[in-house]
Amino acid sequence: DKVVIYHSKFSDNDRVDIWKKLLASSEPCVVIGARSAVFLPFASLGLVIVDEEHESAYKQQDPAPRYNGRDAAIVLASMHGAKTLLGSATPAVDTYYKALTGRFGLVELTERYEGLRLPQVEIIDMAAARKRGEVEGAFSLLTRRLVNESLQRGEQSILFINRRGYAPIARCKLCGYVPKCENCDVSLTYHRHSDKLICHYCGTPYGVPDVCPACKEPGIEVLGYGSERVEEEIDSLFPTAAIARMDLDTTRSKDGYETIIDNFSKGKSQILVGTQMVTKGLDFGRVSMVGVINADSIVNFPDFRASERAFNMIEQVAGRAGRKSDNGVVAVQTYNPSHPLFDFLVRHDYKGYYQREIQERQRYNYPPFVRIIYVYIKHKDPAAVSTIAFEFASRLRVLLGNRVSGPDEPYVARIQTLYIRRIMLKIETQASISKVKSLLNDIRIEMTNSRQLSGAVLYYDVDPM
Ligand SMILES: [Zn+2]
Ligand SMILES: [Zn+2]
Repeated sequence: DKVVIYHSKFSDNDRVDIWKKLLASSEPCVVIGARSAVFLPFASLGLVIVDEEHESAYKQQDPAPRYNGRDAAIVLASMHGAKTLLGSATPAVDTYYKALTGRFGLVELTERYEGLRLPQVEIIDMAAARKRGEVEGAFSLLTRRLVNESLQRGEQSILFINRRGYAPIARCKLCGYVPKCENCDVSLTYHRHSDKLICHYCGTPYGVPDVCPACKEPGIEVLGYGSERVEEEIDSLFPTAAIARMDLDTTRSKDGYETIIDNFSKGKSQILVGTQMVTKGLDFGRVSMVGVINADSIVNFPDFRASERAFNMIEQVAGRAGRKSDNGVVAVQTYNPSHPLFDFLVRHDYKGYYQREIQERQRYNYPPFVRIIYVYIKHKDPAAVSTIAFEFASRLRVLLGNRVSGPDEPYVARIQTLYIRRIMLKIETQASISKVKSLLNDIRIEMTNSRQLSGAVLYYDVDPM
């Protein structure tokens, strides 16, 4: 009676019941909620705990409102004169900076639960392993050996690959043609289960062409690894082991997620293959081995938060190994083993990683040293989107000077038939954000009045994740 669970899938009636309870209750009460719980009406709020505060999932991206549940929680708590407690083994760079500079208090837990050692991390140079003839499919010899040893001991393994589907690239081996989505500027992912090429941005499925549309030869092949293919290969390497796969495709059904977790925690499956879902807070006592199949696809993302995200993700998935015993081991496969991130991961050295990252952020003027606002402009017409974006940016430059950069094309420059341009604003942290807001609003109104925005979608993303 004193605990209320809340998430966004509740019906309106259930919500009203919870609202009434929270507003009327004079008894102590704990709400365990998803990100939208910060919008519940509280009669008297005493404390907000944000667990795994570094998670980018706290940010609602689309549709609006684009808010960060963690930051909204801090505002909510301060409205009630309550405290906020942010918890993480790998704090967000912005958060840790605030803790070190006195904006937040800092409490450190320096021992792992029950004093266990952190797992041993092996960085595997895949190019060298390939030269030695040790790579079979997606796996190095060491990865296969570690999975095997864990099976022999009656323990479990988790293999993490941050792509779903069978293969992320389809291409003609004769002319190099790459099938693309008709609505989005992205290549298509092959899914073996449905035998379709699927766009991961709009969901449109396409048949696999028998002959290449460009050269008319039967040259289309699929390349690279997704979770479906990793599952297939590990299954053929270890035919007697029970293997489960956890990704968006296997957890779509109502109880999909719970069933996979339940079976794995009872030992009904020995190897769990999965996407980002497997990195998040799972606590299985018998997992002694974790494999990161393609670390490069996590590290090499064109975004200023890429290295922060990569460190968090790999350190978090590594933390799934050896939670109840001292023999956890993590195999990280990469073609770029000299990347500085890996040294910090091997030593589980968050502070060292943070020092390097905060210096980079300062040097290139990124958060937490400035606040970033993206202005997004979308349009069905590629010429119109350019014209509008240039006009908007040049009006902004008159007011904000070199705080404005762009417009440029984001990593995926067309989604669901709309072409996209992005303008970036870097605003000093001490500047008035409401002043910036009213400047943006003024430009939007002027351009709307002079019909320069017709057909365009315009929105802002403040503090992008
Ligand atoms: Zn698409
Ligand atoms: Zn071709």
